Amino acid sequence: MHQERIFFFDTTLRDGEQSPGCSMYMAEKVRMAKQLELLGVDVIEAGFAIASDGDFAAVRQVAQEVKGPRICSLSRAKEEDIVAAARALEPAVKPRIHIFLASSDIHLEYKLQISREQALELTDKSVRLARTYVDDVEFSPEDASRSDREFLCEMVQIAVDAGATVINLPDTVGYTVPREYASMFRLMKERIRGVENIVLSSHCHNDLGLAVANSLAALEAGARQVECTINGIGERAGNAALEELAAAMYVRHDQLPFQHNLDLKQLFPASQMLSEVITFAPAPNKAVVGSNAFSHEAGIHQHGMMSNPLCYEIMTPSQVGVPANRMVLGKHSGRHALNHRLKELGFSLSRADLDLAYQRFVEVADRKKSVFDQDLVSIMLTHLRQSPVVNQHGGQHGPSSSTAVAAPQP
Ligand code: MN
Repeated sequence: MHQERIFFFDTTLRDGEQSPGCSMYMAEKVRMAKQLELLGVDVIEAGFAIASDGDFAAVRQVAQEVKGPRICSLSRAKEEDIVAAARALEPAVKPRIHIFLASSDIHLEYKLQISREQALELTDKSVRLARTYVDDVEFSPEDASRSDREFLCEMVQIAVDAGATVINLPDTVGYTVPREYASMFRLMKERIRGVENIVLSSHCHNDLGLAVANSLAALEAGARQVECTINGIGERAGNAALEELAAAMYVRHDQLPFQHNLDLKQLFPASQMLSEVITFAPAPNKAVVGSNAFSHEAGIHQHGMMSNPLCYEIMTPSQVGVPANRMVLGKHSGRHALNHRLKELGFSLSRADLDLAYQRFVEVADRKKSVFDQDLVSIMLTHLRQSPVVNQHGGQHGPSSSTAVAAPQP
């Protein structure tokens, strides 16, 4: 099967960073950019150079220190923005200026208060100006998904004729659905002269929880760049999550036969680093990188997992860089899982002892929701009068005495 190369455009440091609770200092942006380089993203949108002195400095510093991926700055369709982006990108080996200009009537009328004709003029002028500074110019008709399709085609044609190398069709407000979004890309492929010489790009927001599905629909319809962020951070409900796109392409390569440059083992480290840098971690049930993404509590599931992980896991934690499978013991867990964990903790139980331990375990689980290793050790010490024996394999052993003395509360 012919496999098309697609490009990952990461905007964690721009769209992600401009959302609540996600501000980053310059040093943090550089640290994240280096991790994104290790992850193998093709393009890093490092900021919006004109937005502030801090953003300008961050784009410049990332361009200075990160030489693998292409480095991009956002810019409005204004001369001062384009000049600032170009100056910030001076140290970059592979610079890109990303110009956005609204194409929907609601944005033109109420936000920019300009006519369609004025918007087309600005498109032509700004792309031409950016091309005098860099060879690689991306143009985004903002709010493309809510734009009149005829006008959208007109604007995109002008951008392509003026020298844009990438045309991004953002679903700025997270409004589209997969079939509709795919049809926009097919329309561009049919209608735009010279479309074979440019890259079409998706940029999806998650207001309806469809960002990843819409992005995949765009790729199937001919987009070859996908814009996304680590942990799916971004304006409002966020952007398409990079790790979800990458995992879908990996697990369902039969349906999504795309080639890319990502090293999936760097997904979880990137997610963890971002959580340290900003004010929040992904929700526990977040796909791929959430703390529950590879956890199993229900007894039947735990039994299945121990027989063969493929019973309940479509990918292994280690494939996406997650250190180890996390079995959570709770009231839904069975004897089998309890015995397995107790063995790991260094206890070897007779059938009768296991029954007794299980009884105590269920009592604790009813009170506590999650039962931790120290709870199990405490059950063994206080009710069964057994101490852990360090097992001969050396990998797993009993916890330290400080955790072992914690008795369950009555
Ligand atoms: Mn956005």
